[in-house]
Amino acid sequence: MAAVNGAVENGQPDRKVPLPRPLRSLEVKYTKIFINNEWHESTSGKKFPTYNPSTLEKICDIEEGDKPDVDNAVEAAKAAFQRGSPWRQMDALSRGRLLHKLADLLERDRVILATLETMDTGKPFLQAYFIDLEGCIKTLRYYAGWADKIQGRTIPVDENFVCFTRHEPMGVCGAITPWNFPLLMLVWKMAPALCCGNTLVIKPAEQTPLTSLYIGSLIKEVGFPPGVVNIVPGYGPTAGAAISTHHSIDKIAFTGSTKVGKLIKEAASKSNLKRVTLELGGKNPCIVCADADLDLAVECAHQGVFFNQGQCCTAASRVFVEEQIYPEFVKRSVEFAKKRLVGDPFDARTEQGPQIDQNQFDKILELIESGKKEGAKLECGGLAIEDRGLFIKPTVFSEVTDNMRIAKEEIFGPVQPIMKFKSIEEVIKRANSTEYGLTAAVFTKNLDRALTLASALQSGTVWINCYNALYAQAPFGGFKMSGNGRELGEYALAEYTEVKTVTIKLSQKSS
Ligand code: NAP
Ligand code: MG
Repeated sequence: MAAVNGAVENGQPDRKVPLPRPLRSLEVKYTKIFINNEWHESTSGKKFPTYNPSTLEKICDIEEGDKPDVDNAVEAAKAAFQRGSPWRQMDALSRGRLLHKLADLLERDRVILATLETMDTGKPFLQAYFIDLEGCIKTLRYYAGWADKIQGRTIPVDENFVCFTRHEPMGVCGAITPWNFPLLMLVWKMAPALCCGNTLVIKPAEQTPLTSLYIGSLIKEVGFPPGVVNIVPGYGPTAGAAISTHHSIDKIAFTGSTKVGKLIKEAASKSNLKRVTLELGGKNPCIVCADADLDLAVECAHQGVFFNQGQCCTAASRVFVEEQIYPEFVKRSVEFAKKRLVGDPFDARTEQGPQIDQNQFDKILELIESGKKEGAKLECGGLAIEDRGLFIKPTVFSEVTDNMRIAKEEIFGPVQPIMKFKSIEEVIKRANSTEYGLTAAVFTKNLDRALTLASALQSGTVWINCYNALYAQAPFGGFKMSGNGRELGEYALAEYTEVKTVTIKLSQKSS
């Protein structure tokens, strides 16, 4: 995660800066549905629990939103978007100032938010603080700067007409977010949506609602008008489906599984053809050429797959290594994996916490078993850590072939499959031989090879001699079944605006 912010190199905090400390006893204040800047109980009276995956203890109960709550949230968001509303009348520069103020409050409450994120997801606190929160703050500031710079064009036509475009907000936007980066994925959607002048209805993942709900309190404190941001915690097939099928939601942005991404696109087409952006899975190739800086390549490939407990859509989960250096690369990768510290995510030394829930934990162990059965060589790990809930030992497989399930399926866990290749043409073909196309990485010192691969690889991002180098100003998204559309950067503005063409006939004819 080298470039997500200045203080982090390859997923590890810079030990030279003073380290923040998590709050050991933090009371969870926000557990209700946030509509019109107020907190509500669920219409059904139901609640659902959220757990700490490190201890498997319940943290608290959350109000369980469903269709009637989504309907209320949409009504509020529609009213906030009405012509003449405070939000619509607000100068674009002032919208940007509200986003900057929200970024200020995230800076103020950074320890609280990182603590909540660690409680709810199990990710190491320092990673939540230095990577997730840094990414949120930078993304908010980046889009704060865009708010008053979203301009249409004057189009040359004939001299009897004036023609120009307006880039207008779409209306009510739905956002459905995942559990692996709960706050960051919310901000990636919220910041561009608000900067363009839209209103929002958000459903966080059922496993991790706490930081999204805390954001509700900050939205109110900043002074966003009521109804501009509404947050409905709940389950996917109920609250989530109520958003994707809603006739008054104009756009939906989703991050999660390909399976649910397809359901969302289907729901959009069966309801009101709402605009859809999808950020889905990946089975990302990481190609290490024989001339690469081996220390760099081994470390980046290691962090690339194990970062965030392996629960990343960008995970380097197909490592292709040129045959001359294969044995040495495997040996060094195993050394790294064996040294990786797994344990309490609040301990500053911890590099890897637990998996998010029992389903994911079981799925990962089942895929590890398939790797053993299908003939891959288990170099290390391969097991859960006994008596410790949902922790899995960092696992490395060598002698992996392309037909094995661990080489084809998204594992979303701490498992590194390493394959061998002989030629560049061969590795291009094999790397592209997947339904996914999110990211790819290349390690080489040869410029020609680097650029040949950058051009040939079918993925939304190609990293050369780095990994997870993400910037708020650079677009992110997938080719093929890794998704539709782009988040981040100037490109995301197009995903949150409609272009209107205005053509005016002049009364004074020139002829
Ligand atoms: P998921 O079901 O796709 O969850 C993502 C979001 O979609 C959650 O908010 C979820 O709500 C919601 N959702 C579920 N069903 C829905 C529906 N019918 N309509 C609308 N929204 C719906 O992902 P998962 O089951 O938690 O994880 C399964 C796999 O997805 C993982 O193993 C991984 O491969 C992939 N995944 C990818 C990413 C990514 O960053 N691209 C993130 C997470 C997971 P609930 O939380 O209530 O289910
Ligand atoms: Mg939880």
